[in-house]
Formats: sequence, structure tokens, C-alpha cells
Amino acid sequence: MLAVVKSKPEVGIEIMEVPKPRPKNDEVLVRVEACGICGTDLHFYEWVDHARWITLPRILGHELVGEIAEVGNQVKGLKVGQRVVTETWGGCGLCYYCRLGRFNSCQNQLRIGQHSDGGMARYVAIPAVSIFPIPDSISTGDAAVLEPLGVALHALERCELKPGDDVAILGPGPIGLLATQLVKQSGAALIFIAGLEEDTHRLSFAEKWGGIPINISRESLRDRVIQMTAGQGVDLALEMSGGKGALDAAVQITKPGGQIAIVGLGTPGMFDFNQMVHKEITLYACWRRQPSTWYRAINLVKEGRLQVGEVVTHKLPLIQAEEGFKALLDRQAIKVLLLPED
Ligand SMILES: [Zn+2]
Ligand SMILES: [Zn+2]
Repeated sequence: MLAVVKSKPEVGIEIMEVPKPRPKNDEVLVRVEACGICGTDLHFYEWVDHARWITLPRILGHELVGEIAEVGNQVKGLKVGQRVVTETWGGCGLCYYCRLGRFNSCQNQLRIGQHSDGGMARYVAIPAVSIFPIPDSISTGDAAVLEPLGVALHALERCELKPGDDVAILGPGPIGLLATQLVKQSGAALIFIAGLEEDTHRLSFAEKWGGIPINISRESLRDRVIQMTAGQGVDLALEMSGGKGALDAAVQITKPGGQIAIVGLGTPGMFDFNQMVHKEITLYACWRRQPSTWYRAINLVKEGRLQVGEVVTHKLPLIQAEEGFKALLDRQAIKVLLLPED
């Protein structure tokens, strides 16, 4: 089968023939329908310093949707033909944190597309514990972005968004854009979404979904938010950019007693600690998802509450993967799906 492989410790990817995987006793074999290219995959492509934990050679991809083609001997409750999505690491279910229900802190993580082969291929073997069945009514595009939707949704599971709250989202990447739909559906009043000059295309999507785009290369985020909230600031800021100074901006635009959810991984030490104390801001650090997040995300999409598949700007055959990576690096694309062919 054809696969997108990271085989060398340098910039780039390779598209090559590899053997079809076989599931272990506790795994299922998934026939991949589509696999999204994530920001993490871009880091592997560019071979940036902080992405070098990946073990090579490795088939990339963790944002996948597909159908179960085979089940391991010990797998219960899953069957061939079921349509599924997958968590991106195997919570072992047995370690201290898994037993506390903190699957996102599992001590025996096996990250798909990083420590085990991923979904940018026709078939991928996945631990059964990571699998979530989905109904056939969910479109390929919607299903393939359930994983990044889950990152945004987990932030809302952590903090307390109330109907009528004003919200600011920093960073119009796929997760920030999906958060725009999500906070609107959750009853947010004003929804600001901040990005840079090169994000203009992305900000236009946010505007379509009810967000107020703010290009911070051209105008002051603080001034605009303060002016539009009658001098108060927002109830909740979602930091989804990891940008230098983004957390500091979040502290500045959040009202006293408000909340900040940090999702983006940024530069340490980049915010005004004193202002946060004076305002008694509650800070929520949000890491990946929990199983509960998947069930909520699947429910919202199944019931047509969100049109998350609209972030998919490109669907390419797997053999054109390189084109997809480049479209994302140039910010021409928002979410790219790779479709394996037989
Ligand atoms: Zn991802
Ligand atoms: Zn565990």
C-alpha cells in the first residue's frame, strides 16, 4: 500500500510502498477513508527542533476516519464494517492516571503517527481502546476534523462558558475556527477572533460563522475589544495560537473575574502575572481531550449543530500529499484531507 512516510531526519516527507499492517491481539485494522494533515505533521515535515521525538521511519497521520477491516483476537465490542474515528494516543487504561480517568495524562502513551504507524495510508492498526464508532450519516469531512474539534471542545469542558458571555479566540487555525462555531452554539454573545495579516483568508471563515475578525497586524486587539465591550473586556479568552505575546494579550482583554483557557503551546514567561492577579482571572490549562470529549463532539456533529467539515479546503489523493503539506505551510489551505487509493 502507498503511505506518507517520514524516514529521514531532515525537511520533507516521502511517498512510498509499504507492507499492509497486521493488527495485534488488542488492536483493530482500520481501512482509512481520509486522514487530515495536522499542525504536528507540519512540524515533522519541517523537522523543527521540538518535533524530533518522533521515531523514524514512521507513517504519519492521526486525524483519521475509516472502517474496521479486521479485529484482533482479544478485542471485544467492535466489529468489522464499523465506521470509526480514533484518539491519537493509546490511553493504556491501567496506569495511575488512566485509573483516575485522566486518559490525557496516561503514563504509557503510544502516539499514533509518531510512535506507531499512522493513518496516511490505506490501512492502519490502532489499539481498540482508542477507537470511537461514528454513524454513517457523518460526512467524511466532518468526521476527519472531530479530533481538532475535540481540542476546542475540551477547553469548553474545562472552563465555564455561560449563555450571553463575550468570548475572544486568539489564533484562527483549524482549532480556533472550530472553536468559533462551538462557542456560538454554546450561547456566546460577542465572539472576537484575532489573527495576523497572513490569516486574512482564515479570518473570513470565522466571520462567516459569526465571529468578529480582528487583524492584529493592523489594529489593536485590546482597543477593539475594550471599545466593543463597553470598557469591560471579555468573560472568556481562548488562547489557541501559541503565539509570542498571545497570553499577555489574553490577560489584557479579559475582564476582572473572567477566565482564560490555554490550548496553544507558547513561549514560557510571556504574560503579565501581576495583571492576572489584580483581575482575579481563572486560568485553565487544556491538554488534548478526554473520552467524554469524543462522545460530545460526535453528538454535536451527528445532530447537525456544527458544520465543522467546512474547514476542509483541500481533499487530495494520497499521492499528492506533498502538495497538501505545502498548501498548509503557505497558509493557502486550512485543513487538508488525504484520501488513500487502492
Ligand atoms: Zn492533530
Ligand atoms: Zn494509562
